Amino acid sequence: MAYQALYRKWRPAGFDEVSGQEHVVTALRNQVRYGRVGHAYLFSGTRGTGKTSIAKIFARAVNCENPQDGSPCNECAMCRAINAQRSVNVIEIDAASNNGVDNIRRIREEVVYPPTEGKYKVYIIDEAHMLTPGAFNALLKTLEEPPEYVIFILATTEAHKVPATVVSRCQSYEFRRLPSETMKARLREMADSEGIKAEDEALMFLARRGEGSMRDAISLFDQCAAFAAGETLTYDKAAQVLGVADTSVFRDMLDSVLRQDAGRALQLFDGAVMGGRDISQFNSDFIWYLRNILLLKNPGAEAVIDASADSINEMKARGEDISEERLMYYLGVLSELSQSLRFSSNKRVPAEIALIRLCRPETASSPEALASRLEIIEEKLENGVFTVQAAGNAGSRSRSGTGAGEEDAAGNAAEEAPTMQEAMPEDIQKIIAGWDRIRAGIGGAAGALLQNASVSEGGQGQIMLYIPDSGFGSKFIDGHREELEKYFSECVNRKVNLKLVTRAQYSDSSNRFFDIAKTVRDLNRIIKSEE
Ligand SMILES: [Zn+2]
Repeated sequence: MAYQALYRKWRPAGFDEVSGQEHVVTALRNQVRYGRVGHAYLFSGTRGTGKTSIAKIFARAVNCENPQDGSPCNECAMCRAINAQRSVNVIEIDAASNNGVDNIRRIREEVVYPPTEGKYKVYIIDEAHMLTPGAFNALLKTLEEPPEYVIFILATTEAHKVPATVVSRCQSYEFRRLPSETMKARLREMADSEGIKAEDEALMFLARRGEGSMRDAISLFDQCAAFAAGETLTYDKAAQVLGVADTSVFRDMLDSVLRQDAGRALQLFDGAVMGGRDISQFNSDFIWYLRNILLLKNPGAEAVIDASADSINEMKARGEDISEERLMYYLGVLSELSQSLRFSSNKRVPAEIALIRLCRPETASSPEALASRLEIIEEKLENGVFTVQAAGNAGSRSRSGTGAGEEDAAGNAAEEAPTMQEAMPEDIQKIIAGWDRIRAGIGGAAGALLQNASVSEGGQGQIMLYIPDSGFGSKFIDGHREELEKYFSECVNRKVNLKLVTRAQYSDSSNRFFDIAKTVRDLNRIIKSEE
């Protein structure tokens, strides 16, 4: 028994069976119902979205002897003749291979004769944008004065290549990419009626891989169903058949990008390409991988991720150390890449450039890139790759606790030292003395921000902290609140509550704030003068 591809077998026989494209179906149906059929139609949109299927249904519907609610009955002589491809009323032309003037001239000669049976001669011209300018001109002449029994349906994935003069003669319908849910529902219907056992996750995965093209999704399903051969089609099996089960290459890729190891990233890429991966596909798979990690940083996002439980857990863990901003920066670079891959004959070079950009956010200036850069600096600080100019070393000096400074003691701190010492609360002295240790303990970008902090004693054991670039800085520091409270408590030997103050609170406060860096500078000057 010859095997019939599922997408042929499941080609919709009537408008009711069409998935999606409701706006097109309703309009065409009503035209049949009320006998208001036009003479020229332009069906445009992504491949596999139902343009030819709908054109064929329409061709039968206009010829049907007994249409049902605008849909062909598929039982009358005309319907059967067309379905069996015995009728001369429906003529399909593939413009990709019949694009010349001669082909269209032949049509013009034919259309002179009315149909011998049925009502309409329907010409379905697929890939219409492939027609030559001469052919379009010839077609235009027919479209200007079409015989009443002729219908042209031009189907194209590239409507912008069809001359405006032709478009203006046509009723234009845009076919949209189908939502994954719609495609999944159709696949479920097929699976059940074909007796193919399949997990919902597997069908959703195939629907998403179809990227809006029903035909693609069905072909993928066909491929996977054949492989599952009687067993249940699971997500993992589907992923295996389609060659995406192995996310390890993306995991390694992400690792090298995070380490800014462009050399390794390029090696991995080379390995994948040499192993037969399509560059565009590789890029979109990597995008999906990162997108999943990004989404999984939000609770409850598992529901929209088509992946096995294991890989979901793994991606969740992976995302813990990476900020959303950083992931968005990566996704931005890769999305740009997928755009440029479309128009590029050499896909390799733009892909490699993008990889290098991922590894070197310092060359970019977007906010995401800046955030990514900040994190890298933070990591380097943590790992001691380089150190920030220290504010001072009061904490390491044995005499630090005895000296003191004050914010308004700028020029002549040395002379005023005794009064200042008196003026500075003991707890504040202790905290300033331990400041370097605290900053080192907090580390990273937060530690660096603390360099500019001012402190004050609030009531009830509170320590108030002000970071000059209040908004962003304070928020950042707030993330380290617990640690800071722990350090402060250690310094002063009692429990401390930290209060982060805003710029307004800082300037309105009657409390005396001590600019730590400045205090330490003054302190050092005092120590020096005493020596
Ligand atoms: Zn019929």
